[in-house]
Amino acid sequence: MTLSRRIYPGATIGIIGGGQLGKMLAQSALRMGYKVAVLDPSEDAPAKATSHLFINAAFDDEKALKQLGGASDIITYEFENIDGPLLKRMVDEYYVPQGAETLLTLQNRETEKEAIRSSGAKVVPFAEVSNDEDVKAFAEKEGWPVIVKTATGGYDGKGQYLIESADDLKKEPIPYEDTQFIAEKYLDLEREVSLTVARSADGKTIVFPLQENLHRNQILYRTIAPSRVDRQKDAEAEVEKIMNKLHFAGVFTVEFFIDKSGELYVNEIAPRPHNSAHHTIESCNISQFDAHILALTNQPMPEIRQHKPAIMMNLLGQDLDRLGDALYDHPEWHVHLYGKSARKPERKMGHVTMLTDDTADTLEKLKTDFEKER
Ligand code: ADP
Ligand code: MG
Repeated sequence: MTLSRRIYPGATIGIIGGGQLGKMLAQSALRMGYKVAVLDPSEDAPAKATSHLFINAAFDDEKALKQLGGASDIITYEFENIDGPLLKRMVDEYYVPQGAETLLTLQNRETEKEAIRSSGAKVVPFAEVSNDEDVKAFAEKEGWPVIVKTATGGYDGKGQYLIESADDLKKEPIPYEDTQFIAEKYLDLEREVSLTVARSADGKTIVFPLQENLHRNQILYRTIAPSRVDRQKDAEAEVEKIMNKLHFAGVFTVEFFIDKSGELYVNEIAPRPHNSAHHTIESCNISQFDAHILALTNQPMPEIRQHKPAIMMNLLGQDLDRLGDALYDHPEWHVHLYGKSARKPERKMGHVTMLTDDTADTLEKLKTDFEKER
């Protein structure tokens, strides 16, 4: 399989997954003159509106995936949990510059953390656990509290159990029989940051400014870019180690923890566009979505410049009610609504980006203007 090719405008980019990430990827691709084909199980997926061909099928529907492959000159994904063997067959038959290996490694938290650790980058102490005794043994070594996470399929904090002490294990049983789990030392966090990087199919990389991420209920709530602490170089050094170990093509984001003593740990890696880099659409010379398309089609990528600091706020289902009026009071807001028909609490329905010279002031105003009912 050829590792890098030029994919000229006019070609069709096939995207596995048609959520908001697929939609925004498609918008970049369309602007650059590509055609877009999308596969998604939801019949009104956001990216249906931004595709020439929309295949409404499950992610494990091999026939449908091959239909996507046959209709596309290049395949990428916005969705990480694609069946491994199926993805491998796609890679054999079609042009998938991201390959299958990295995705498969990152799909499972244990193999992900193992790969990061063996690259020499720092990860939070972790261990595979399959019963309460394992969790206790881990806590005896690393100390309480411990966070137990499903090894696969988790996102936005789903499938996570914060265990403060051995007593907690009795209160909330962990369904070890259902799936694989890992235990992680629960850190007293000072901050969370993330670094978004794009690597072209022939190996050139560009780096976005380090982003600072605020979470609520383990879901991303605000991003501040650039981060209020400058750990750009430290984060880049960690990503460099990881890139020597794992093959990346296109855009990916590395999430980091910073603990109270200033220690930087890699948390996890998303080998696709990431919520914390949505601000790049307005705040940078090219967005993370542009970068992904440029990287995969092997077009030259510019060095990243950020025009202005940015605050990104996510709009979850419950935030939409408040948006109505706020929208009309803020001509300076860049409002993105993904076009999801079902509004659910905690579901990501859209986001707003604000460019500002004073991030502290903008954050404060958001608190009084937009968050007062929370
Ligand atoms: P997901 O795949 O759901 O994003 P993460 O491992 O990134 O899972 O966890 C979601 C959030 O939960 C993190 O961004 C962080 O706020 C919190 N969290 C997860 N693991 C830890 C930990 N070991 N110590 C402290 N906070 C954690
Ligand atoms: Mg995460």
